[in-house]
Amino acid sequence: MNLEQVLQARLQQRRDQSLYRQRITTAGPQQTVLRSQGRDYLCFTSNDYLGLANHPQLIAAMQSAAQTYGVGSGASHLVCGHSEAHAELELALAKHTGRSRAVLFSSGYMANVGVLGALLDKTDGVFEDRLNHASLLDGGLLSGARLQRYRHNDAEDLQQRLRKSKARHKLVATDSVFSMDGDIAPLSQLAQVCQAENAWLMLDDAHGLGVLGPQGAGAAVAVGLNEEQAPIYMGTLGKALGCYGAFVAGSDTLVEAMVQFARSYIYTTAIPPAVAAASLAALNLLHTEAWRQAHLQQLISLFRGYAQAMDLPLMDSPTAIQPLMIGDANRALQVSQALQDMGILVTAIRPPTVPANSARLRITLTAGHSQTQVEQLLEALGKLQQQGLLSP
Ligand SMILES: *Cc1c(COP(=O)(O)O)cnc(C)c1O
Repeated sequence: MNLEQVLQARLQQRRDQSLYRQRITTAGPQQTVLRSQGRDYLCFTSNDYLGLANHPQLIAAMQSAAQTYGVGSGASHLVCGHSEAHAELELALAKHTGRSRAVLFSSGYMANVGVLGALLDKTDGVFEDRLNHASLLDGGLLSGARLQRYRHNDAEDLQQRLRKSKARHKLVATDSVFSMDGDIAPLSQLAQVCQAENAWLMLDDAHGLGVLGPQGAGAAVAVGLNEEQAPIYMGTLGKALGCYGAFVAGSDTLVEAMVQFARSYIYTTAIPPAVAAASLAALNLLHTEAWRQAHLQQLISLFRGYAQAMDLPLMDSPTAIQPLMIGDANRALQVSQALQDMGILVTAIRPPTVPANSARLRITLTAGHSQTQVEQLLEALGKLQQQGLLSP
């Protein structure tokens, strides 16, 4: 078979399984009302949790930095792509997350792959929550270490696996907030287990930074885990901070090791300095517009209160990620399409992003939403429920 035939067969199989992905093309900025192909949609599916992606202060910071630095960074950090804007952002990120130092990566995916590759090799063991983000799993596989996946949020299962392992070094990696479930890992318990079993704890706080803890300092600060207890902290700039990129924070030694050994740090172009400047503006807004975190929490309570009263298939999540469990991939797609017809965007998340038969509607709330908009979503969900589309 030639390439076209092989690919066409695979694509057809995806369609047959209701797993085919399609992109919508948007016009204009990320905000709660998104324009696509001439129609406005109320968006409940972005990761712009604080509504900063289109904030005037971020735009101004980016414009001003573009005047100063131009657009492209020109090279990787180790060649000549590391600007004062990058350096300033690294200092601010370390301070904000209560760590000694931070180092920027070009994306969260690359940070996870880079950290695990830099710290582990085939004589080591990496222990990951079953529901970890794909980038952590891929990073674990690529590192060559023996990868074990422990039961979701199960510190006991983790401890037994650590005890049995004969690996030279053991690293435990977990999402702090699970990207498709919205629940929070038992971080203190995991840290205790790691301490007892002499394992290194890595937190992926892509969905916690900016949202959890005082001024959005993130999941580690929120539960009081210091640099010794949670030595490897990863955060991203593309979600609550409304920008693009990522970083790893920890001890001076950890950061130096990333700079020396993380291949996805070394062999890629630095993010544009103007993006770093915009991220710094976003960090400042976490302090100066703290009402955003508070408003988001209010919307989460409002949504959960109504959804519980309506008996919607809510999941056990205290965060901005409020998925409704559907199960069947085809039905999840149907519900998502029906919402879209009503002018509301919510993505149907299907395997392999989530386990088989656990397709869901991944609803996300942001500080940009109004109470009225959340009520509109609930009203639309009520209609679909009456049509029997949401019953288990
Ligand atoms: C989004 C996400 C990433 C990847 O971050 P990018 O900057 O988008 O590459 C990593 N981990 C988790 C848990 C995520 O949700």
